[in-house]
Amino acid sequence: MFKVWFSIPLWQRVIGALIVGTALGWAWQEYGLFGGADPTSIKWIGDLFIKAIKMLIVPLIFFSLVSGIAALGDLKKLGNVGGKALMIFAATAAFSVSLGLTMATVAGLGKGLDVQLPEGADVPDAATTTAVDMILSMVTDNPVATMAEGQVLPLIIFALLFGISVLMAGKEAAPIVKAMDAGAAVMQRMTMIVMELAPFGVFALMVWVAGTLGLDVLQSLAQVVLFNYIGCFIIILVAYPTIIKFIAKLPVVDFFRGIVDAQVVAFSTASSNAALPVTLRCVQRNLGVSRSVSSFVVALGATINMNGTAMYLGLVAVFGANVYGIELSWMSYVLIAITATLGSVGAAGIPGSGLIMLTLVLTSIGVPLETVALVAGINHIMDMMRTMTNVTGDATVAVAVGRMAGEIDVEEYVSADDI
Ligand code: ASP
Repeated sequence: MFKVWFSIPLWQRVIGALIVGTALGWAWQEYGLFGGADPTSIKWIGDLFIKAIKMLIVPLIFFSLVSGIAALGDLKKLGNVGGKALMIFAATAAFSVSLGLTMATVAGLGKGLDVQLPEGADVPDAATTTAVDMILSMVTDNPVATMAEGQVLPLIIFALLFGISVLMAGKEAAPIVKAMDAGAAVMQRMTMIVMELAPFGVFALMVWVAGTLGLDVLQSLAQVVLFNYIGCFIIILVAYPTIIKFIAKLPVVDFFRGIVDAQVVAFSTASSNAALPVTLRCVQRNLGVSRSVSSFVVALGATINMNGTAMYLGLVAVFGANVYGIELSWMSYVLIAITATLGSVGAAGIPGSGLIMLTLVLTSIGVPLETVALVAGINHIMDMMRTMTNVTGDATVAVAVGRMAGEIDVEEYVSADDI
């Protein structure tokens, strides 16, 4: 039995778990299976998987980033890689927000909807995060506390500076480089061990999601969910393949075959951070991107490159305006585009952070914050899809930048080994 289980490639086991878990969760709710027990009762298995995978994040980011930067060899190359990554991050974010805005405007999303807030709905206060707060939160005053608290962005900045300093120290820092290389190699093995839990974790999370989904909430807001999914599919199936085909000049099918594990983990956990170790493993092992480029682009991307979230923020802002009969001027559209992009950059890679950023976008155009309460019930199901989009975007940029910098093993990319 063990033999049969391990003879199936991991990605097939994970996808199987997603499908079987969804079907079981649905049947559980529909037919009151297991003597009417609560499907939430098995969620702990998913939580266990998420905890195990989160355990990897801090050491993995630190070791891989520092060892990756050291392997780049010079600062000019680092600037080159960083500049290219930021440019593609910005271009895809602009595309995604425009897509959300266009779809919601053309479809008149939310027009004529009878606004009934769910009972006991919590209307949030406006987000008070300013651009200055955002910049300040990027720099830590205590790296040890940052690691202990698992704050990803300040950790990346610290690791970046550490890596740059290692490069500057040259020979003197050679023992540290060796230790970091070894640490990165060990963390990769540890990721492989934890990934064996993925089929069980994904299964439990899907049973929980499908088994507790309030179908009544879904019905009245089905259009928003539908457009959220359509928008994400357009980004994943049109925008990213365009980058892979025309910028990276690599076959698209191999890309999707290589990244599927990360997509399923992102979808079931709704967290880019939780998916980070898996994304990194897929990008390095399956798609052949060097450790230098992949650890830099994927770690940074998991916190600032969120195209699914950007699209969603644009979409729901127009939806809210339509629901409350607020005319949007050109200026409002520009404001949404700016705040949605900033919101997607500022959103942490954790479940539900996009919903918090929504308050920022809505406040900027004067749409009532009741909109947040209105979509809160359907947030998780939308979050899953936008997280999958966000993570696919990080891998896309890693492949594109890796290709441009000559830091990708094309043979590895096209081979189906190791997957
Ligand atoms: N959960 C998303 C992520 O981790 C962010 C969001 O809420 O849109 O990528």
